Amino acid sequence: MLDIKNLHFRYSRRSPMVLDGVDLELRPGEIGIVLGKNGSGKTTLFKTIIGIHKPESGTLKFDGTDLLKLNRRQRAEITAYVPQRIQFGAMTVYDTVLSGRISRFGLNPGKHDRFAVEQILDDMRLNDLASRNVEKLSGGEQQKVAIARALAQEPRVLIFDEPTGNLDLANEQLILSEARRLAAEKMISILISLHDLNQALALGDRFFFMKEGRIRYAGGPEMVTESVIREIFDADVRMIDADGSRIIVPVQNGAHGD
Ligand code: ADP
Repeated sequence: MLDIKNLHFRYSRRSPMVLDGVDLELRPGEIGIVLGKNGSGKTTLFKTIIGIHKPESGTLKFDGTDLLKLNRRQRAEITAYVPQRIQFGAMTVYDTVLSGRISRFGLNPGKHDRFAVEQILDDMRLNDLASRNVEKLSGGEQQKVAIARALAQEPRVLIFDEPTGNLDLANEQLILSEARRLAAEKMISILISLHDLNQALALGDRFFFMKEGRIRYAGGPEMVTESVIREIFDADVRMIDADGSRIIVPVQNGAHGD
């Protein structure tokens, strides 16, 4: 289980805490959605979990292992990250995905590494693109390659920072259903930040509402309510029941009368 307690981080000694006592628990196979306004600290939290930022205080554990004591390579075997903006070198899709395994093979990939990459390309339906230059692919295809590369690390915790930002509807659905499959089949804990509250409701097992560097509310779908959303986003919404599913719709200012 990913277990974060009282995590603090700031970008410099003179600036305010960007993570101001974050607590978060996520079990194997669970999808946790982090929700919060721009600037609430989501990306900073993710980068602290994967080891880009070093927290000032607090604990960060996975199955009892202190992640803060691991070196970069060991850390990469537990946590993988798909950033908001993906940057690739001029490499083939195959080599890009293989590069995700560097922490596992060191200098030269072996048979096992190639087999693992082929399996992932298969799962992600990227076979036909394997020899293409990744820089020449569409945004949606690149997003899939970035996920494949993260999966090649064989992480226990997979973190997506706004994965659906630049995707069309079909690719958006593909990525979200892939996340669901990975959590269920490989028992990976997945942490995702999403802007779309309805996507979040459809996908999440756990919800973490973040404001000013803290998780203000954490819980299952029942935690997602009009009043929590109003408090976290300073925006008015209504929950509507549609054939047993809840749909969140924004309320225009002045449109809700009494
Ligand atoms: P979110 O992902 O929720 O939009 P971020 O984690 O990106 O939030 O940002 C949280 C706060 O940290 C913001 O106030 C932002 O300006 C600040 N911040 C982010 N990155 C840096 C940085 N590299 N240096 C200084 N401040 C930063």
